[in-house]
Amino acid sequence: MVNKAYCNFVKVCQSCGAEIYSGAKICPNCGTRQLKPKTKGKKSRITAALLALLLGGIGAHKFYLGRIFQGLLYLIFSWTLIPGIIALFEFIILIAMSDERFDARYGKPDVQMASKSDNNRFT
Ligand SMILES: [Zn+2]
Repeated sequence: MVNKAYCNFVKVCQSCGAEIYSGAKICPNCGTRQLKPKTKGKKSRITAALLALLLGGIGAHKFYLGRIFQGLLYLIFSWTLIPGIIALFEFIILIAMSDERFDARYGKPDVQMASKSDNNRFT
């Protein structure tokens, strides 16, 4: 396991990917100004996993992750108990998934775009 306290003080530069102090406005490595992290839209992987485990049968984790349409399907078909079985698998996937993969899938769309434009840059 990674040291939690350490993580709270370190973030990854949005441009060069170097580990920098989380409060830094400008990356000391490449000099790129850091955008404000959107903590409001940040989803917790553990919360999503627990919702899938406890309330997955009614699609609670789907609603939490912003997949409203999928959540409604879970809700409609909850009486078949099939969504509950699928949610159990999704619980295992969410628990096994790394935070980086989770963020790439369910959050931080601005960071994804930043790395995309990086790839188009001439080297
Ligand atoms: Zn940097």
